[in-house]
Amino acid sequence: MTASALLSVDRVVKRYGDRLALDGVSLAVGPGEAVGLVGESGSGKSTLARLALGLLAPDGGTVRFAGRDPYRLRGARDRSVRARLQFVPQHPRGSLNPALRAGEAVAFALRLHGTPRRGRAEAVAGLFRQVGLEPALAARYPRELSGGQLQRVAVARALATGPDLLVCDEPTSALDRGAQVRLLDLLTDLRERSGLGYLFISHDLAVVRHLAHRVLVLRHGRVLEEGRTADLWAAPAHPYTRALLEAATGRTTLT
Ligand code: ADP
Ligand code: MG
Repeated sequence: MTASALLSVDRVVKRYGDRLALDGVSLAVGPGEAVGLVGESGSGKSTLARLALGLLAPDGGTVRFAGRDPYRLRGARDRSVRARLQFVPQHPRGSLNPALRAGEAVAFALRLHGTPRRGRAEAVAGLFRQVGLEPALAARYPRELSGGQLQRVAVARALATGPDLLVCDEPTSALDRGAQVRLLDLLTDLRERSGLGYLFISHDLAVVRHLAHRVLVLRHGRVLEEGRTADLWAAPAHPYTRALLEAATGRTTLT
């Protein structure tokens, strides 16, 4: 763990009853760095996301964001630290209130962040532009937007608080291939322009490859292999990683 890491997860253990979901996982994400986490369904990826976001407490090990335990960031005093850590979910349709217009959802995040009412409409328009959406779409309800547009609204809402790190849990899994690529291009762009860091989670190594500088392969709650994305892609050490890679390149199916 480097001292400069924005997010550091150190030998984390998490149990659900007698099921061991994470068994000694460590990772670090530095400022402006994109770290990918790949693994099959049930390997513990979402559990790690929830620990990183402070939605769960670990049974062992430590999680730190900006030197703080995210599970203990509470109340008004910690709002400025909380604001730096945001989430992009897998299913934006489930995470956006169907009764709120897209712009209202983003405005609500701005309000929680303390942006004064008078500046909010302009800030919403700015955030929509930042994620490549026409500001006019702010007037639409979630049911009137495509999956790709909704995911951009979710990113705009996450950006509303000026985060340093986005935890993205399978953000492209519900999108068709074209919308996947456009969302990944947007996230890459945001990193390059504003130095945003990512913990980017996917079951698909091909998706992670687009964005991540480094990749960790999770299996049964343990890190099986990790390395620079290019190295791992060129020469995976573990047969399981090779299988993921073959699935990603479409040569064979993962069994
Ligand atoms: P992934 O996101 O990689 O699919 P999860 O972190 O969701 O994996 O789940 C890891 C393991 O923990 C799985 O075996 C899953 O069934 C179990 N699990 C996840 N959440 C809960 C929960 N709230 N209660 C009980 N078991 C859970
Ligand atoms: Mg998951």
